[in-house]
This record gives sequence, structure tokens and C-alpha cells, in this order.
Amino acid sequence: MTAPRQVVVCGAGVVGASVAYFLALRGVAVTVVERSGVACAASGKSGGFLALDWCDGSALGPLARASFALHAELAQKLGADYGYRRLDTFMLAARERGRLGGGHRVAAPSWLDDAGVVTGVLGSTDTTAQVHPARFTTALLDAARARGCTLRLGVVEDVVQRDGVARGVRVDGATLDADAVVLAMGPWTTRAVRGLRLPTVRGLKGYSVTLDVADVPAHALFVDYRAADGRAFEPEIIPRPDGEVYVCGMADPAPLPDSPDAVKVDDAACDTLCRAARRVSTRLASARVTRRQACYRPVTDDGLPLIGRVPGVAGAYVATGHGPWGMLNAPATGLALAELITEGAAALDLGPFDPARL
Ligand SMILES: Cc1cc2nc3c(=O)[nH]c(=O)nc-3n(C[C@H](O)[C@H](O)[C@H](O)COP(=O)(O)OP(=O)(O)OC[C@H]3O[C@@H](n4cnc5c(N)ncnc54)[C@H](O)[C@@H]3O)c2cc1C
Repeated sequence: MTAPRQVVVCGAGVVGASVAYFLALRGVAVTVVERSGVACAASGKSGGFLALDWCDGSALGPLARASFALHAELAQKLGADYGYRRLDTFMLAARERGRLGGGHRVAAPSWLDDAGVVTGVLGSTDTTAQVHPARFTTALLDAARARGCTLRLGVVEDVVQRDGVARGVRVDGATLDADAVVLAMGPWTTRAVRGLRLPTVRGLKGYSVTLDVADVPAHALFVDYRAADGRAFEPEIIPRPDGEVYVCGMADPAPLPDSPDAVKVDDAACDTLCRAARRVSTRLASARVTRRQACYRPVTDDGLPLIGRVPGVAGAYVATGHGPWGMLNAPATGLALAELITEGAAALDLGPFDPARL
């Protein structure tokens, strides 16, 4: 096969940025087309939590393990500080009202000094890590741009085809020519480009807040929490090295808006997350809230991403549907897709993620 010289990547989330990076490393001329801004959606608002082995036992296991290793390599290679570090990870139980009895079940970090009961250890610095999601996405794209990739702001409206072969994309009414096209528009992928034989990708909304607290240890927390009104949910509390503590949770069935710019933030949901964080540590109790935000993770019907060729259109590829693990799995996705595009096959088995499976 002849490797494509010019590839258009649609979407500048972490997945598009990773595909662009690994293509640019292979000498391909890449244009990334993004409608709003780099990492403006879930890739800028996620936890950035990474785990080596939490996907073991599912089809995602090899992708996650390969990606966890690539994250460590990229932290050395990209030459940017995006807060990559290893973490210890704990499971906690806490209630907004009242206290659970019995005390910590395992040795608990001293900063968890309020109503939370540490019930288990979920990961160590060998198996869990984090990145700042927006900075990681930007670092990937910057590294791609340093190798000639260009970023263009515009709305992708269609894949331009001739005789069943992708020839580019329509962006704001004009054709942008390319030898190959990668669709990586997160939950908007199958809405932005219709008429392709792709399984529907949907958006699942979640909220997050950030708190301004310096020097919280590198301990990620997964909390079994009950709000005062009886609602049960599982906030994730992830301290970052830059003095920010990130808290997320609260699934919301609200439909996906047409653009990331139109995502609405529900203050009540964010307040609930703040209260949950404040219950587990006096360090967080009076911390200032710096951001309240919402975003949609891209999900498929079987919970597995779509990574591979678009059925029926030569030269068209898709990489989306990574659900709760897009930050983790973006590097191995980008590498595998770049190999598929330039060499015709990926070292990693992409069979479970074949877009034609659903
Ligand atoms: C609250 C929350 C916490 C999370 N925490 C974690 C975590 O700790 N670890 C982890 O691994 N994963 C986490 N995730 C999941 C992860 O954030 C996502 O899987 C990942 O960000 C998806 O990246 P993406 O590039 O596919 O999509 P997105 O980030 O949605 O990017 C898609 C891009 O495409 C652009 N776009 C859309 N339509 C068009 C168009 N027509 N033309 C041009 N551009 C377009 C958008 O503007 C956007 O920039 C979390 C998700 C949520 C919601």
C-alpha cells in the first residue's frame, strides 16, 4: 500500500491530538480541524487518572496496558510539564450526614482526617498515575505541530468521497483535500458526519470542580458516597501537582448539545461534589472553588471504543468512544491508528474495536 501523505484529523481532543502526534512522528503531513478549541471538551475537563490494570479481563486490557506504558515514555519524550506523576489510590466511604463506624480498614493517609473511612487500596505508584488532561492534550498537539502538523479552526461537516474513497473533508462549506481522514470528534463524531456505516456514538454527561489547595499528597480517592438526600454516587478526588484538587462525578442524562460551547453547568451538581470532597479532609474543607464544569464522555453501545477503518470508505478512519478511559487509552489508540494508516496494520490487535462490529 502507498502511505498517505496528507491526513486530516477531525477533532482536537486527546484522541485526535494523539493520532496527530504519532502520524507526525512518521513524517505524515497532518491537519487537525477543531471546531472550538484544543481540549475544549472532555479532554480538558476529565480526571486525567491512569491505571495499568483496571481494564484487565476485558477487551480493553491490552490497550490500557500499552497506553499506561506509553504515558510514562511520553512524559520523558514530550519535554513539557503536564503534571504526569504516579499516585497511590484509595477507596473511601463517606456520608454527607453522619459518620460510618469502624474506623479505617487499611492504613490511611493522615490528610484523610474527617468523615471518610478508607476501605481499601486500589492502586500504587506502580499501577496508577495522572496527567493534567488539557495540558497533556496540548503537549501532544504542540509536539505534532513542531513536526509540521497544522491546526485549523472550523466545523467538519462531511467526509468528501469519490468512488468510495475519502478525498478530504468539508469544513465550513469548503473542501479540505486529504489522502486519508480520521474522525476523532468524541461524542459528536457520528452527529457531525452522517451517512457513514458507523455505530452511533453518544455523550454521557458528568460534572467536575477544581479546588485551590496546595501540597495535597499524590493520593487519588474513589469515594462511595451518600448525599444528605439519600442519593448514592461515587465521586473521584484527584489532587494535582499544581495545587489543584479535581473532583468529578454525578452522571446526568441531559442530551448532548450541538457544540462543546453549549454545554451547561449545573451549580447544584457542582456544589454536591464540593461537599463530598470537603467531608473527607479538613484540608479541603475551606478550599476555594476555582472551576465548575461539565463535559460529555463518548460512549458506544458495547462500551468499547471504535478504532479502525470506517466500513465502506477507503481512507477513512475513526477513533472515538473511549468512555471513561479516553485519557488513559489515547496514546495507544494514536499509535495503533498511525500504524494502521501508514503501514496497513497495527502491532496491537484492534479486532475488538473494529467499527464494523456493531
Ligand atoms: C467527568 C469525566 C471524567 C473523566 N475522567 C477520566 C479519567 O480520569 N481518566 C480517563 O482515562 N478518562 C477520563 N474521562 C474520559 C475522557 O475524558 C474521554 O474519554 C476523552 O477525553 C475523550 O476524548 P476525545 O478526544 O475522544 O473527545 P473530546 O475530548 O470530546 O474531543 C472531541 C473534539 O472534537 C471537536 N469537535 C466536535 N465536533 C466537531 C466538528 N464538527 N468539527 C471539528 N471539531 C469537532 C470538539 O470540539 C472536541 O474538541 C473522563 C470523562 C468525564 C466526562
